Amino acid sequence: MNKLRALVTGGAGFLGSHLCDALLGEGWSVVVVDNLLTGRAANLAHLQNDSRFELINKDICEPFDPGKVDFVFHFASPASPVDYMMHGIPTLKVGSLGTFHALDVAHKYGAKYLVSSTSECYGDPLEHPQKETYWGNVNSIGPRSVYDEAKRFTEAVTMAYHRYHKVDTRIVRIFNTYGPRLQLNDGRVISNFMKQALRSEPLTVYGTGNQTRSFCYVSDEVDGFLRLAKSSEHLPVNIGNPNEFTILECAQQVIKATGSKSKIAYEPLPQDDPKQRRPDITKARQLLGWEPKIQLEEGLRLSLDYFKNAVADKSTATR
Ligand code: UDP
Repeated sequence: MNKLRALVTGGAGFLGSHLCDALLGEGWSVVVVDNLLTGRAANLAHLQNDSRFELINKDICEPFDPGKVDFVFHFASPASPVDYMMHGIPTLKVGSLGTFHALDVAHKYGAKYLVSSTSECYGDPLEHPQKETYWGNVNSIGPRSVYDEAKRFTEAVTMAYHRYHKVDTRIVRIFNTYGPRLQLNDGRVISNFMKQALRSEPLTVYGTGNQTRSFCYVSDEVDGFLRLAKSSEHLPVNIGNPNEFTILECAQQVIKATGSKSKIAYEPLPQDDPKQRRPDITKARQLLGWEPKIQLEEGLRLSLDYFKNAVADKSTATR
């Protein structure tokens, strides 16, 4: 039996909670530190009777010490555009102060470390698809900058702790991910479209709907995290599904998966909305032997029960 203990900051969030499940499945003990700003204790409710699991409600922007850990997974941050624009300053703080504190824990205990970064580091990319070597096209003063620049700074602090303190770090750049526990009201395209389709409301397509995204199912994404955690690669690695869809195509897929009669309603495109996004995953393929297995049609089908329950649940279906 593996007696190793992992810290997951942001473990009550969508990705963090799936990561906790995967780590417990591999025999780890897990301590989550989360202030529940955008995460939900309900995402971890099924673990409350597991003696190997602990949830600490605390803001990592203050120094904290969870006791000895062998691995730090730093996943704390608002992550959907609606959430990080609503919580701009906490987003900047958790990416900066929170990252220092998570790295201080890893440094103190000689723990390995993996941080969740993002395709937003590439901004509205001029290189397509995006390779890890691309430095990005980010508007440092636009509405998305609270997240984009926080995550770019997160990467900088992580590399500095690696270079100066020899912390054994890893950086995953996550592309759009979806699946059960994606919050119904986080404003992301998949959650909005699923909610609207299941309520027979129009699907709100922003702009022309010709902008693109590439959607990764959550189990594939978490498999990528675990493979990267076991590797010794310190430079960023893209983990995302390279199958690219226009947002209009995504709307059609959701209508098909739900069997909905919803129509499309066009709304204005938010400022600085990236026109295209698709990961180049050559590095993950070669280094980690990783490849996504679940394509959008199947992933939406696998997510359907979760979204049906979330729409029916009055406590989550308020917006
Ligand atoms: N989008 C949309 N309708 C919605 C929500 C989002 O057309 O109800 C678009 C949004 O403008 C963007 C894409 O879908 O082009 C993905 O948006 P999301 O908020 O999921 O994340 P992003 O990839 O922009 O961080």
